[in-house]
Amino acid sequence: MPSAVERIRGGREIARPRALVWALAAAFSLLVAGVGRAAPAQVRITAAPQGGDLVISISRADGEHSSIHAFTLDNPSRLVFDLANALLPPDHPRTLEVALTSVYRVRMGQNQPNPPVVRVVVDLPEGGGPPAWETHNGEAPGETVIVVHGEGRPALALPEVTSKGDIVLLRFSGVGGLTRRTGALAEPPRLFVDLAGAEVSGELIRDFPDENGLLAQVRLGQQPEEDGKPVARLVVELRKDAAHSVFEDGADLVVAVGPEAWALPLPAYHGAERLKGRTIVVDPGHGGKDTGAQARLVAKEAGQGADCGDGMVLEKDIVLDIAKRLARALEAEGAKVVMTRSDDTYISLRERAAIANRIHADVFVSVHCNSCDRPNTLHGTSVYYDHAHSIPLARAVQAELLAALGTEDKGVRNANFAVIRRTKGPGILVETAFINHADDQRRLLNENFRERAARAIAHGIVEFLNQGGGAKEE
Ligand SMILES: [Zn+2]
Repeated sequence: MPSAVERIRGGREIARPRALVWALAAAFSLLVAGVGRAAPAQVRITAAPQGGDLVISISRADGEHSSIHAFTLDNPSRLVFDLANALLPPDHPRTLEVALTSVYRVRMGQNQPNPPVVRVVVDLPEGGGPPAWETHNGEAPGETVIVVHGEGRPALALPEVTSKGDIVLLRFSGVGGLTRRTGALAEPPRLFVDLAGAEVSGELIRDFPDENGLLAQVRLGQQPEEDGKPVARLVVELRKDAAHSVFEDGADLVVAVGPEAWALPLPAYHGAERLKGRTIVVDPGHGGKDTGAQARLVAKEAGQGADCGDGMVLEKDIVLDIAKRLARALEAEGAKVVMTRSDDTYISLRERAAIANRIHADVFVSVHCNSCDRPNTLHGTSVYYDHAHSIPLARAVQAELLAALGTEDKGVRNANFAVIRRTKGPGILVETAFINHADDQRRLLNENFRERAARAIAHGIVEFLNQGGGAKEE
């Protein structure tokens, strides 16, 4: 028997199955594999989803591979495969329903009795993108396989589960971009993520027997269809209540679970260029010989990027890290950012304000940590202004900070701190949290908290400037 490659009419060698893009194929026609002048034989056809693909298997009773002539038709959109010298047994089903988003139905019938042709029609939903397809010889004698690729709709498997500290991350590879709905349910505490257009083969369950762990079980199953689309539901069953967030990380979808929302990781920041043409001065408080507030290190999980040597936590270190993150967030929004310091140097208060005034900054923001006389008494977040024209900015930033951090509201306050008193344009001083309160210190030493604080300040500035608050006093 000649090999499959040799049997391809036209003599072009294809070692691997080939894919053809439907969009280019309005009038194409191709003989993929040939039965040559073989006598007609009965075929049996099956169709099944495999991952996101539709797999059609054609078996010829005479053990030959099918000769397939493929083309597309419009109104309604369909993909047609004519099988040469083929007979459809009278008892063969004429329709196969396939639960896929991109393909719903495969129809077949006897066409042209002499020579006999079996026509296989794949009905495609309207408005879908062009599917690619390929064909190859199957494993069984006389089996030919057509694979019609789903439109990027992935096959879902259980997510990869990793943990870092008390944060658990569940990562689905390659399913970023699926529309989703998330929610939390009680008794037992669990959260769900619905992925529209996604399919699971059966219910997948993974138990987590560690009694001390946060996760009890992760399962993935199919929900009722919505708008003609399959919906897959991920359920994460927890041993205790926890915060969660769901975000895209490149092509992946990540579900983060942990005891506190402010400690959950964040996806990469994608600014919307809402600060194009704006200049922002970011002022990390203190620096060099001026350490700012300092406190004994009391938080258990220290480290994570903020320096804390000798058992002490220094304000100048923490605020520099937050300020750098703020600068990145503002730049992602298209702003020009000038930092009064970007390392551990001392700069006078007069000079900090002068920098902003010299370049007519749209906003000046000084980043600090608070502290109080008696440790562990006060905690929370506040934003200070001096000039009345800075009040809307202070309010916008404080609102974003409280929403992002969940810290106590210490209010928008008036104070004539030198840096904001001397700044001519809108200027604020942010007290992110109290360095000498154990709870707040634990937050400040957590990089996700600092990142959240930075993004919240950036969002507040975006809010303020896009409400026309950026008018400058010259
Ligand atoms: Zn300070």
